[in-house]
Amino acid sequence: MTTATVNLSIPKPPFRAACNGCGLCCRAQICELGEQYFPGAQAPCPALRLQDGKFQCGLALTPSALLGLRFNGDEILAPLFAKAIGSGQGCGMEDET
Ligand code: SF4
Ligand code: SF4
Repeated sequence: MTTATVNLSIPKPPFRAACNGCGLCCRAQICELGEQYFPGAQAPCPALRLQDGKFQCGLALTPSALLGLRFNGDEILAPLFAKAIGSGQGCGMEDET
């Protein structure tokens, strides 16, 4: 896993179509969850990770390390964060008009 410093140019799918990991949403703006855990941070979100050629939310991958926890709670925390960011519900970034 690497930090999101690579500028991939995967086209964003339409709003609510399957997420393809283009990362545009989290590169452009930090969501409420990100603001809560990384107050004052500027986009791209510090939690954004590039894995297997796709951008993913690090809170839904390896939250324990990302949040500096002294234990590994990823098995419990990662699915909770995934649900909180709407993972599996399609692209959450509205299309520009
Ligand atoms: S979904 Fe994750 S990576 Fe994207 S802005 Fe929110 S906290 Fe950051
Ligand atoms: S939610 Fe949309 S903009 Fe964000 S990574 Fe997925 S496809 Fe790209």
